[in-house]
Amino acid sequence: MLDITDATLGQMYEQLYLGWKVTVPAGVCPPVGVGGHIAGGGYGPLSRKFGLSVDHLYGVEIVVVDRSGQARTIVATARPNDPHRDLWWAHTGGGGGNFGFVTKYLFRTPGATGDDPGKLLPTPPPTLFMTWVSYPWDGLTQEGFLRLVKNHNAWHAAHSAPGDPYEGLHGALHLNTEKFIYLEIRTDATMPDARKMLDDYIAAVSAGVGVTPQISTTDDLWLANATLEFPQTIPPRTKSKGSYLRKPLADRQIVELYRGLRDPAYKGQCLVYFAGYGGQVNAVGPNATAVPQRDSILKLWFSASWPNAADDEESVDWVRRFYQRVFADTGGMPVPGDRYDGCYINYPDIDSKDPAWNRSGVPWSTLYYKQSYPRLQRIKAKYDPNNTFRHALSIEPAAG
Ligand SMILES: Cc1cc2nc3c(=O)[nH]c(=O)nc-3n(C[C@H](O)[C@H](O)[C@H](O)COP(=O)(O)OP(=O)(O)OC[C@H]3O[C@@H](n4cnc5c(N)ncnc54)[C@H](O)[C@@H]3O)c2cc1C
Repeated sequence: MLDITDATLGQMYEQLYLGWKVTVPAGVCPPVGVGGHIAGGGYGPLSRKFGLSVDHLYGVEIVVVDRSGQARTIVATARPNDPHRDLWWAHTGGGGGNFGFVTKYLFRTPGATGDDPGKLLPTPPPTLFMTWVSYPWDGLTQEGFLRLVKNHNAWHAAHSAPGDPYEGLHGALHLNTEKFIYLEIRTDATMPDARKMLDDYIAAVSAGVGVTPQISTTDDLWLANATLEFPQTIPPRTKSKGSYLRKPLADRQIVELYRGLRDPAYKGQCLVYFAGYGGQVNAVGPNATAVPQRDSILKLWFSASWPNAADDEESVDWVRRFYQRVFADTGGMPVPGDRYDGCYINYPDIDSKDPAWNRSGVPWSTLYYKQSYPRLQRIKAKYDPNNTFRHALSIEPAAG
């Protein structure tokens, strides 16, 4: 039994795979905690193939606090006749720290039958190709950078539909302030044309970029890859922001990325991460779970980090301005519409509540939850009537 109170994704992958050769599609960093990650939706390298973590969430065991201050434990499931079904639904993307303290997550893929745990969740490919494509900044012009990002985004626009033949390939482009830009790729090695698909993807992203990338591919066992922890090289002070992209960024926005990442005045590190999305994530309806963003092609994560608290104000201000410039056309935020689909609650950003940074007029709750929000508010009012579980971006209970 996995104790959820301090479990990490790495522990979850290990226990499910060693026990039953199954997994829950979830994040790429093994030290991330299960507690907040799952409730926020959870996505990772297997999501194009198997969907979000919450697409396999069957129930939660949760300690809630009633109006009199009394704590009680509830098991809320997806069963149609479960009186607490709404509380289960709230955990399919409503975000951590809102309704109570989750002590267990119960997983079962919709439609799975029987009691054999080995048949209740997806089986990951036993082996994968792990590829790093490194593009040196040295020699990369603004034109080449533009081409690289456009190539990557266009490829994902063409390959994000459910059932796409490339669902078993997950690419993430790491634009950063360091010496190399990286394309991180995981390819299901059991696909008949896996090697060719991988080569074609690298060729499509690299076409006309103007620098020769270094390519390194290893044959990995899935579990070893999923649980490998990289040595920690990221400075401890961080600020992050995110967005869902329905369409590739415009050239103007990519030029802003280039200028920001090449800004000699910035002293910290910054990563702008374009994670491959879509596939089976987009096979689920926008109201089936609390994650309404079900037709995006990419997920974007801005993560700035720096070593010293003395630089907090300057560094936070820098990343705020950087992000605001990229989304300048929509009030500094990726407002749901034709091009974007708002933000991801597992990349919480308090600036979305601040009119200085969110000039869109669209409330923070719409950016994160869209049409799911009123239902989440009603569930919040029912199960946490005193607003015991709250934080800077927690769900506000429905009035009355
Ligand atoms: C290095 C890094 C890599 C990441 N990679 C990915 C990725 O690949 N995919 C992805 O989807 N996300 C990713 N994320 C984002 C990640 O999903 C969120 O940071 C998530 O909130 C982590 O959950 P946690 O429990 O570790 O965090 P915490 O900060 O501990 O918790 C986040 C929120 O959840 C609440 N919470 C925690 N545990 C419980 C519980 N048991 N019951 C109720 N509420 C709880 C907390 O109160 C808090 O409000 C990454 C983050 C980092 C820092």
